[in-house]
Amino acid sequence: MSQPLSPLPPGSTIGILGGGQLGRMLSLAASRLGLRTHIYCPDPASPAFEVTPHRTIAAYDDEKALAAFAEAVDVVTYEFENVPAATAEFLATRKPLRPGANALAISQDRLAEKRFLSSKNIPLAPWRPVESLTDLAAAMADLGLPAVLKTTRLGYDGKGQRVIRAADEAEAAFAALDPHPLVLEGFMPFEKEISVVIARNGAGEVRAYDVAENVHRDHILFTSTVPADIAPGLARQAAMLAKVIVVALDYVGVLGVEFFVIPGERPSLVVNEIAPRVHNSGHWTEAVCLTDQFEQHIRAVALWPLGDPARMADVVMENLIGDDVLALPARLDGDSQPHLYGKAEPRPGRKMGHINRIRR
Ligand code: AMP
Repeated sequence: MSQPLSPLPPGSTIGILGGGQLGRMLSLAASRLGLRTHIYCPDPASPAFEVTPHRTIAAYDDEKALAAFAEAVDVVTYEFENVPAATAEFLATRKPLRPGANALAISQDRLAEKRFLSSKNIPLAPWRPVESLTDLAAAMADLGLPAVLKTTRLGYDGKGQRVIRAADEAEAAFAALDPHPLVLEGFMPFEKEISVVIARNGAGEVRAYDVAENVHRDHILFTSTVPADIAPGLARQAAMLAKVIVVALDYVGVLGVEFFVIPGERPSLVVNEIAPRVHNSGHWTEAVCLTDQFEQHIRAVALWPLGDPARMADVVMENLIGDDVLALPARLDGDSQPHLYGKAEPRPGRKMGHINRIRR
């Protein structure tokens, strides 16, 4: 579908698939720009429903509800990459879908993502598709151990993966992971994890935020520190690789790219994964950038000019996971910007909010 090139006028409605905290923050950013948002999510308790009156509570395969949603909005975007392909296709025939269905299809399937990134010469951990135990044995022989066996679909926050350290662990790992097919990746002895959040709009303008250095706790992002403690050349390379990806995808919106930094005389980068949406490791932009990642995404999908991603201070973003949120008022000081997602119950592992701490 060819995209109209004129910017959406203020008062237009952006449809967002998914009602989590990312949808909520996108909705708040849109509202400041005089744009409405309509959230589509099957879960009536979605945090995003609290910040906009326009909502559809329905399953992602409910064609009647999807058709009415498409009627009510001017453009459709999404806040999570596991939007079913059929839902995306259904909506894309009715209203512009930004980012496009190709970005969704590639990023929701680890094998498709690896094939795509390899075809663009993006450095990756060595990998092999695994459909059977025979494939797995051959892949382990090729890549050596340790190695990481991952599902190709529906993995997030470390779910859907197992490290195989000895050959006799392979069968149990293969049986435990679902759905199949799987992919085996060589284990990367990384020194640190970094990410780039980048935006591209309909006119092909590309703007990247500074590189964040990310620390995970129990496989969930714990902190993002900016600037990352890496050589300037490596930071430029990360931004350049992210740019190659958004250009190759003809991407419109914000995209997150996660990298491993591999130590060596000259440290190098491999891409771990991409996310076709605003990204947890970009939440710091709210506190220290004129245009944060949420506004940037809305501007891109509304075909507005992109804003300035320049960083005005050093910053650490700290996720509030589960009960962390209960200590909140006491842990705030004058240099911190809290952001809570309005979720009722602080369950273990649940992202409840974040704090951006400015470093002066
Ligand atoms: P993922 O779900 O692919 O983002 O992986 C979650 C986390 O597992 C990463 O942030 C890494 O800490 C670790 N991990 C994933 N893949 C590898 C790998 N190939 N080698 C070493 N660690 C990995």
